[in-house]
Amino acid sequence: MIDLNKKNETFVKKSSRNNSKLYLVNNLNDLLSSKLFSEKQLNNFKTNYKFNSDKPIINLFDFDQKNLITIAYLNPNKSFRESTIDQAAKICNLLEDRVWDLNILSQYDENDIYEFLLGWGLSFYKFNVLKKHNIKKYLNILSLNNKYKNLVETCSIELRGINLARDLINLPANYLNPDQYEIEIKKIFKSLKCVIHKGRNFDKEFPLISMVGRSSEFNPKLIEINWKNKDVKKDKNNVTIIGKGITFDSGGLDIKPSGAMLNMKKDMGGSAIAIGLAKSLIDYNSKINLRLLIPIAENSISQKSMRPMDIKFSRNKTPVEIGNTDAEGRLILADTLSYAQEGKINPDLIIDFATLTGAARVALGTEVPVFFSNNENISKKLLDNSITMVDPVWQLPLFTPYKRFLYSENGALNSTGFSGTGGAITAALFLEQFVDKKINWVHFDLMAWNLTSRPGFPKGGEAMSLRTVFKTINELFN
Ligand SMILES: [Zn+2]
Repeated sequence: MIDLNKKNETFVKKSSRNNSKLYLVNNLNDLLSSKLFSEKQLNNFKTNYKFNSDKPIINLFDFDQKNLITIAYLNPNKSFRESTIDQAAKICNLLEDRVWDLNILSQYDENDIYEFLLGWGLSFYKFNVLKKHNIKKYLNILSLNNKYKNLVETCSIELRGINLARDLINLPANYLNPDQYEIEIKKIFKSLKCVIHKGRNFDKEFPLISMVGRSSEFNPKLIEINWKNKDVKKDKNNVTIIGKGITFDSGGLDIKPSGAMLNMKKDMGGSAIAIGLAKSLIDYNSKINLRLLIPIAENSISQKSMRPMDIKFSRNKTPVEIGNTDAEGRLILADTLSYAQEGKINPDLIIDFATLTGAARVALGTEVPVFFSNNENISKKLLDNSITMVDPVWQLPLFTPYKRFLYSENGALNSTGFSGTGGAITAALFLEQFVDKKINWVHFDLMAWNLTSRPGFPKGGEAMSLRTVFKTINELFN
């Protein structure tokens, strides 16, 4: 059995004279003027060591030869892959397994320290089904200036959300099938009421989710979790988060070629990010009333599979024609979006996350999630925060003229449309058909997967856009 709920805390409160010391500098002069070293030591240092980006740390022995003094070069930077977060993860990987006291010698602002802590935390993530990951490297947070203590807390909350999303994505599809996914979600939110929509009436209630999932040995379902901040009125700050939870996508009868099917355990990546984000918002006690909706299905192949050109009436009675059985994500999202807008209180914001189209990857590559929105102010905030948080996202337009590609001559709404190009946009326009114009809506189309490894960001599941959205929600509703 794969254990998801492992604890891996790297920030500890443990002061001791046996702790090793990590000095952070962004230029050598700060080290020289720190008066921490004798002239002889410094001269020795100046002649024998040179920092470079390949080796950003230098180990020295403590004066009594028991502990390490390590000097690390951290140069604040917001460029993707060269950022402070990346540098910190690299530094942490190079450090020896010890308890470290942090000594900040150069001028850094609060955000630099936040990014250092985040990079430190991210560097520990590993997914291994055999070995329990054992952390032996710690940062003594008592060594931090008091003003940075809340940064540690925010970082820990974000790290838990990110690593949870990564774990869920990395789990193989034979383990994380729709039934097991339900069990895991109940475990993650064990203190909250979890409503599971499934069973005999499911095909009537959620016809499109049912149609996608009916070919699998595991029944499709919609999982609903509500959480309320005690200080926020019921009709205020209602945020609904939705995530596509296709536990495996074979493509259905329009079967994928083997290369394209290989990583399809990650087709629940949108739901994993939604869950990680929800967990972070709850742990942070964000000033919102949160609703999390996760439609779950396996897009499998059997005699019960949906067929191209099948027509099914959706939850809100829209006739939907199946353009391609591999375009299943938008179907399960359509019914979920309808459900999200049926309550007495309208959501102030709906955000959905989905590994939806290859076209979004063709447009922006695998590392920049695409988003669409009907609200300019929220879009601008997302773009700004994406730079601040070093968590890239980019906007594509809900280009209305392309809607004409979605209507079939028989009156049905076609799921893929009849244009061979602009697939990420037509998918978003399809979803827009299920969203009331008055409701603020953001749709993310993302990869949720790192194709290669670098410190802090190993190959495999990735919680792309989570921190950008976390910050944006907390800014919008405070
Ligand atoms: Zn698909």
